[in-house]
Amino acid sequence: MTSDRDESAKPPSRAAFFNELQEAIGQFKQTGRALGLLIISLRRIREINITFGYQAGDRLLQAFVGRVRGILRHADSFRDIGGNDFALLLPSVLNAGHAILAANRVQSLFEQPFVIDGHAIRAQAVIGIALYPNHADSAESLMQRAEMALSHALAVNKPYEIFQDELPATSLVIESELQRAIENDELVLYYQPKIDMKSRRCSSSEALVRWISPERGFVGPNLFIPVAEATDLIIPLTLWTLNTALRNLAEFREKWGEMTVAVNLSPRCLHEPNVVDLIQQAINVWDAEPGHLVLEVTESAMMHDPQHALAQLQRLHDMGVMLSIDDFGTGYSSLAYMKTLPIDELKIDQAFVRHMMDDEGDAMIVHSTIDLAHNFRHKVVAEGIEDELTFETLANLGCDVGQGYFMGKPMPAEQLELWMQESPWGIKA
Ligand code: C2E
Ligand code: MG
Ligand code: MG
Repeated sequence: MTSDRDESAKPPSRAAFFNELQEAIGQFKQTGRALGLLIISLRRIREINITFGYQAGDRLLQAFVGRVRGILRHADSFRDIGGNDFALLLPSVLNAGHAILAANRVQSLFEQPFVIDGHAIRAQAVIGIALYPNHADSAESLMQRAEMALSHALAVNKPYEIFQDELPATSLVIESELQRAIENDELVLYYQPKIDMKSRRCSSSEALVRWISPERGFVGPNLFIPVAEATDLIIPLTLWTLNTALRNLAEFREKWGEMTVAVNLSPRCLHEPNVVDLIQQAINVWDAEPGHLVLEVTESAMMHDPQHALAQLQRLHDMGVMLSIDDFGTGYSSLAYMKTLPIDELKIDQAFVRHMMDDEGDAMIVHSTIDLAHNFRHKVVAEGIEDELTFETLANLGCDVGQGYFMGKPMPAEQLELWMQESPWGIKA
């Protein structure tokens, strides 16, 4: 089957690649060798451009191309197809496993940061894979299927995805099921204890949403939060989370006295014009003290329209709500924000904490972040503490609060009650 679409309408790099693809498919008819197509989409380039300038973004793309060239086989073809996307065409793949191996090799190129103008930048890529003739019967449909696999990988937060027949509707299906889930109370809040490192007792807990779906079973937030964020569903989802957490907070304080609750606020929510009023209403409805609510926002919230984000954070701060910067160290926001952001707490990302005992670089980042936060009079929380040695090391470094599987995993509210009774970190009722 040949395409009747006008290929001249595509950007030149895409059109050139398309011709190459058609040629390779033509050869299949003689050699019978299957083709693998990987579409590699570099992420965060926009953020990198905003933070470090367009030239840094371009240099990062060039450095990436250099790394890929280092792993290509002679017959492989690799092209920039525009929009921070690249196509890698593998001639004569034996099966899907071969193409997946190639995707893993590309992903391994991101393990080391890219050093651009003296900045160590951690870039990421998402890859969509499709095979000819297994998944498509033309160059056009092969491209389209690799793109579909890519969108799916993006929607479910996976490093790569290989095309499958049932993929096309997946994120749309998740979207409509999620809408129903919010309306029908299929969501549940789990709570993970946050431990005060001085008193060694639980002082707060982070509310983490779970979805118990009749079709899919237990679904973690990494699967559906990106879908909610890509649609307007993130607003009702956040309001549900906030209201449930504030209702539980009243019960927690009745049982255990001084407790606060932390709720994650997606960057998208911060840009919703009436979000501050909605949060104030929820606080009023549950008769909560604003200071007992911690809102966790990531650095990326400051990327898009930083002035507006800052104004919203300032209003929340003026209301008396506690603000925390989540996953600190993984975003690209400028340290200059540190002096303007009206925040109370920094949460060091678990990626640094988990390896701090065996990676000197991570240990230095953790150490410096604790000092940085304290110099600004912010509290520091370390998340991802998985063993005693890490806990004790952080306590000695002066870290204020710890969160991690070593002390307690996220659990339903009823189980938290048992944990409080039985765990050495718990507050007995
Ligand atoms: P986060 O806010 O950074 O939450 C911490 C995540 O790290 C949680 O994963 C938690 O279970 C996990 N974690 C904590 N300690 C450890 C540890 O010691 N080891 C390991 N391996 N993991 C640990 P979870 O619950 O899967 O949540 C993932 C992300 O989903 C959260 O990251 C947050 O960004 C998002 N999320 C969860 N609930 C909500 C919500 O209600 N609203 C929004 N907007 N986002 C949410
Ligand atoms: Mg969080
Ligand atoms: Mg985090």
